[in-house]
Amino acid sequence: MSRHIKAGNQLPDLLLIRSRLIPASEHRYATRGDWWWQGDTLEIRISREEQRQNPLYPFLLLVHEMVEALLCRLSGITTEEVDALDMNYGGDGEPGDDPRAPYRWEHATAELVERVLAKRLSVNWQDYLKGGGDENLD
Ligand SMILES: [Zn+2]
Repeated sequence: MSRHIKAGNQLPDLLLIRSRLIPASEHRYATRGDWWWQGDTLEIRISREEQRQNPLYPFLLLVHEMVEALLCRLSGITTEEVDALDMNYGGDGEPGDDPRAPYRWEHATAELVERVLAKRLSVNWQDYLKGGGDENLD
């Protein structure tokens, strides 16, 4: 088993995933996608504006958030630990790429899945990185 996955951690018997497309301005912080656990319910929020560029962008973002959140759960990384970095992030690029991010491996693994899907769906990765939403998002 991967050294990141902690023995004894497992997914809940009943796992609910609730995903909403919301206006980018309503995110908890400046981002294209966000997740948090509410008990055994995984809450995911994706910027609705992403659809304007390409209807596949919200799908790719959703898969990223979902894989990352589920891996964090299995790794024993809590919502609070992830939020602590994300909410106060002042660096360049995505907080998940920061060496200080406790969920860096989970983020990188989610991106790997996202990249494979993007390739398969003929989504240009560089265009996708620019985002389909507001210009104030990176
Ligand atoms: Zn991520």
